Amino acid sequence: MTDFTLSKGADGVAIITWDVPGKSMNVLSFEGLAELDACIDEVLADDAIKGAVITSGKDSFAGGMDLNILASLRDQVEGDPARGVFDGVMRMHGILRKIELAGMDFRTKKGGKPIVAAMPGTGLGIGFELPLACHRIFAADVKAKIGLPEIMVGLFPGAGGTTRLVRKLGAMAAAPFLLEGKTLEPAKAKAAGLVDEVVAPDALLDAARDWVLNASEADLVKPWDAKGYKMPGGTPYTPAGFPTFMGAAVMVNANTKGVYPAARAVLAAAYEGALVSFDEALKIEARWFTKVVLDPTSGAMIRSLFINKGALEKGAVRPAGVGDERVQKLGVLGAGMMGAGIALISAMAGIEVVLIDASQEAADKGKAYTAGYMDKGIARGKATAEKKEAALARITATTDYEALKGCDLVVEAVFEDPKVKAEVTAKAEAVLGADAIFATNTSTLPISDLAKASTRPGQFIGIHFFSPVERMNLVEIIRGRETGDRAVAKALDFVRQIRKTPIVVNDARFFYANRCILPYINEGIRMVGEGVAPWLVEHAAELLGFPVGPLQLTDEVSLDLGVKIARATRAAMGDAYPDGDVDAVVFPLYEAGRLGRKAGAGFYAYDEKGKRQGIWPGLGERFALAGDQPELGEVQNRLMMAQVLEAVRALDEGVLTDIREGDVGAILGWGFAPWSGGPFSWLDRIGAAKAVEICGALEAAHGARFKAPALLRDMAAKGESFYTRFAPAAAA
Ligand code: NAD
Repeated sequence: MTDFTLSKGADGVAIITWDVPGKSMNVLSFEGLAELDACIDEVLADDAIKGAVITSGKDSFAGGMDLNILASLRDQVEGDPARGVFDGVMRMHGILRKIELAGMDFRTKKGGKPIVAAMPGTGLGIGFELPLACHRIFAADVKAKIGLPEIMVGLFPGAGGTTRLVRKLGAMAAAPFLLEGKTLEPAKAKAAGLVDEVVAPDALLDAARDWVLNASEADLVKPWDAKGYKMPGGTPYTPAGFPTFMGAAVMVNANTKGVYPAARAVLAAAYEGALVSFDEALKIEARWFTKVVLDPTSGAMIRSLFINKGALEKGAVRPAGVGDERVQKLGVLGAGMMGAGIALISAMAGIEVVLIDASQEAADKGKAYTAGYMDKGIARGKATAEKKEAALARITATTDYEALKGCDLVVEAVFEDPKVKAEVTAKAEAVLGADAIFATNTSTLPISDLAKASTRPGQFIGIHFFSPVERMNLVEIIRGRETGDRAVAKALDFVRQIRKTPIVVNDARFFYANRCILPYINEGIRMVGEGVAPWLVEHAAELLGFPVGPLQLTDEVSLDLGVKIARATRAAMGDAYPDGDVDAVVFPLYEAGRLGRKAGAGFYAYDEKGKRQGIWPGLGERFALAGDQPELGEVQNRLMMAQVLEAVRALDEGVLTDIREGDVGAILGWGFAPWSGGPFSWLDRIGAAKAVEICGALEAAHGARFKAPALLRDMAAKGESFYTRFAPAAAA
């Protein structure tokens, strides 16, 4: 055995230790499952064993299931993937149920055998579903996450987690864990009823062992296996339960717009499972789980949001042969909105920060952002006064460039003005060591142009954060023409330190994320100009799973920014500028002062408190609704193709070099329909031939911007998908 080992104590308590060799965290594999099963059989068969503690040899309990299992389950029964998945899941249920029922095995007429979980740290997914099947759950009082985050990758807890949690907590209390993937630290997990005991880490095994030795027969029967069990909060057809289940259905459909099969499935499994016996409920859970696993959505979400996101975070695109470039001391130039955010997350990651602005007042204000953020965290119980002090102690707010001495990375976030940027680059380089890397957070200016202000362009790079820095997890790293590998490695190591997800792209107008989001926004606005109902545009986007429609998004980022970008783009492109019909909508609104949310007026109307009220009625007067409104699908195709074609072009032009980055970057950078797995995954789902067909129709109706790129046509002709054609780079 390698993953699970059993040792028998003199006191009759067996310790089953989960410790997958060569991994920092346990994950459950086929082999591991068989070993666990064998351990449980031994516990049950050996009369000298009174009970067992399942624990881990690592700091954490387990991170979840090896997701490759799901893929291989599909191939277990030839020609019948559903049977393969269902049978595999039922085998798992069988093993966990054996643990649960061990407490009622009265072979010896002395009561059953207690089996408890002792979690030294984090337990997620199956790493919490296994404890849920035990008779008692002990968790060490350490910084750890406990919960069932499967929904985040398009799955739901399918190893009994759904059925057990609903029966343990009731549907209402279980909902945030099942539907939102909420995880909790041990003490809070206890308060919420997820775990039974939280004890000091060094007392964990003794406490669990004591419980095994002293458990009463009543302790060993799970509530749902006891006579007279009533589900907390009630079942669907009780006066108490009815509103919960009905409300949950409404809430889930409102939040997911029907594009997340897993959310619907977990709801159905909970609802239907609540109406039948526990063992029947497990079968229902397994059926829904099978359906979700076979839906392309879960595969795409797992690939982008779990496998590829994880690979990028671990340095999949890091240049080979460059040593450790973790940042020791960071300089941040410009303590405005972005600079203050960059200083905050860096200080929280333990990095020493020098935060510079033109005036001491501005620098102090930037530092105060960290204080304010930590205060909010303290109020919500997520931070402590000590953590706040420690973060603040790491930030030196100053106007003195001399303080940058010893910084190995500087990120500038001053005004978006090449002259100002050139000036601060020169000032910083004058005091920086020869090895230091200089990065710019520009959102629109070409890196290669800004690098001209540097005396060492090989050490000059773009590190593009999104706003608000502390919430947005994507960081776009941009290689300028002369940027060297060490600068890329430094940027990647920095992003890893601050626990965000990097993509590395080449230098081109608007880089990757903004390049794709602009056509989405523009297509929406263009439709308003054509007389398409604004709410049709917005709903079409929402029903595709976009967090906000293009008009709302324009209001959020503000119309003056749109106007600024339009003017700059027009200046750069001259006669080739393609967005005059967009400007015909945006400029009049801008001139009328309808700048968006910040002005309390934009495409939407707002009340005095700034709350969005609905589409501004005056919009219909300026841009009369056309008598013939397009089909929803046509509006959706326009919004979708506007972005995905831009992503394809970015790939074709070498701005993107890896489709994994294109997919992950789209979801994290601008909320591109996460269910789809990203633009390339979405195109693979519909197929290149279908995409070319849609483009043909859109091009005929709306113009050349929808012309299918040659790459897509070639793929259609050859029957290729992105993840096959670009497989070597995207090996996942
Ligand atoms: P901001 O106006 O809030 O902050 C800029 C700060 O730079 C100000 O505090 C200003 O006093 C300071 N500054 C100006 N000249 C300086 C100088 N010579 N020396 C030192 N400090 C100086 O702007 P922001 O929104 O934080 O944007 C900063 C940069 O980040 C810009 O390049 C912008 O394009 C980019 N960016 C912004 C966003 C966004 O959503 N706001 C997103 C990504 C990137």
